[in-house]
Amino acid sequence: MMVSVQDIWENVRVAREMVLTNQYETAGVYYQGVVQQIHRLLPTIHEPNRKVRWQQVQQVVAAEYENLKELTNTIAMFKSDNPSAMSDRPLGTSLRTSSFEEPTRDPDVWGPPPGRDPDVWPPPTPADHNRSQVKPTRGPRRQDSSKSGPGRGAKTGAKKGGTETKTGRTKKDGERKDKKDGDKDGKGSDKGGEGKGGEEEEEKRFDPSGYDRDLVEMLERDIVQKNPSIRWSDIADLHEAKRLLEEAVVLPMLMPDFFKGIRRPWKGVLMVGPPGTGKTMLAKAVATECGTTFFNVSSSTLTSKYRGESEKLVRLLFEMARFYAPSTIFVDEIDSLCSRRGSESEHEASRRVKSELLMQMDGIQSTDSEEPKVVMVLAATNFPWDIDEALRRRLEKRIYIPLPNREGREALLSINLREVKTEENLNLSQIATMLDGYSGADITNVCRDASMMSMRRKIAGLRPEEIRALPKEELDLPVTQEDFHQAIAKCNKSVSQEDLDKYQSWMREFGAS
Ligand code: ADP
Repeated sequence: MMVSVQDIWENVRVAREMVLTNQYETAGVYYQGVVQQIHRLLPTIHEPNRKVRWQQVQQVVAAEYENLKELTNTIAMFKSDNPSAMSDRPLGTSLRTSSFEEPTRDPDVWGPPPGRDPDVWPPPTPADHNRSQVKPTRGPRRQDSSKSGPGRGAKTGAKKGGTETKTGRTKKDGERKDKKDGDKDGKGSDKGGEGKGGEEEEEKRFDPSGYDRDLVEMLERDIVQKNPSIRWSDIADLHEAKRLLEEAVVLPMLMPDFFKGIRRPWKGVLMVGPPGTGKTMLAKAVATECGTTFFNVSSSTLTSKYRGESEKLVRLLFEMARFYAPSTIFVDEIDSLCSRRGSESEHEASRRVKSELLMQMDGIQSTDSEEPKVVMVLAATNFPWDIDEALRRRLEKRIYIPLPNREGREALLSINLREVKTEENLNLSQIATMLDGYSGADITNVCRDASMMSMRRKIAGLRPEEIRALPKEELDLPVTQEDFHQAIAKCNKSVSQEDLDKYQSWMREFGAS
């Protein structure tokens, strides 16, 4: 599918406009689309100067997107049902799990070492005012552990590193942990040698001694995602994918003793499918539903982050995942570990990272059998054909995440319209039929666009002060069928039939569900 430069600019413009009008989720979808578009555009550019300029654009857009994600995460913490969640992740700490591949990045231009704040990502966004204030000091916690935590006080008292503990863990946390781990918490055989609390369980902390402290901090800060807060019910359709993931990932976490020997869990599960179909959401839901520690890393982070440190990063990632087991390691865009073209050194770097990843995946279940450490690798790709045989073999389950069917599209419409007013006779079923071929992310785009139509009509031709003076009720009108017709006419589907055919033929050859 040809990418039009004009489309890219238009989408960037809309993304920024959305940020300025506080429509962060919509902005996120637009940014994600732009990142994908530039990613597709780059290989078609052959003129070197132009390519470099587009790479710069890619970096700026990706940085804006990262800042936006950081901002939305911060907002999500405010919305959390526990105010102490705010203390879990300091404002301004950077989320550097870049969610796109930089295929032709100059291998000599590497990101800054961890712990030092970069100038490489300078764009001004609303998130910037949050930046640079607090140095992160805390390590990861189990999923949801913040939900019923005791509040800031207990945590701020924790010392950094070593056998750091957090006291005052709530009973609920302890219960959840028991459910997941059986009685293994008490064994204390892990690195870090943390003690076992009496009545109040103390939280495990990874001991950074012997490791690069900056890397440990970076992982704890940026890769370990606390409380992704996505549940199965937030994801429309995809029943088969949910069932497969439940069997392949959730059950081994819940009953580690059963999944031994011939029943050993799959080494890895690969989710394949067009962009915007909910793969990342599924990974987050897996982590939420089984309450595992969730390590969310994109391949571009693994291959391009720190010169010479990438294999260390992978080793440490698995080491920490075992320590905090049960864990889910989610590797987004795993194809970029295999498909990086360009200079020799670039190739070499990703080759080494991939080898380390393969070794770690092979060793995942080989720890002592008395206390099995369940670490699941969950990977996602929009480009499965770029994955080589060695990696494919480790990703034993390969499941297809399709475009939503008609019921799925209707469910997506309902989910997306949960928070806006709609006219009484809005016919979702008819809209769902019109959206045949649209991905989940496309449908989210359409809904956002439709929900802004009345506002657009109201403010057309007005000056900023007049817009500011408009009462909210005048802008917040119910979304109508006609709004949807207009939005659908404007928003094209992002996945072509040609792409779908490619997925289908790959799945026919390599699928394993
Ligand atoms: P992928 O990882 O497949 O590219 P994501 O999981 O990041 O896609 O989804 C992108 C966005 O699209 C989500 O934030 C959500 O708004 C929407 N979306 C896609 N699929 C679904 C779905 N099945 N249910 C609900 N929302 C969805």
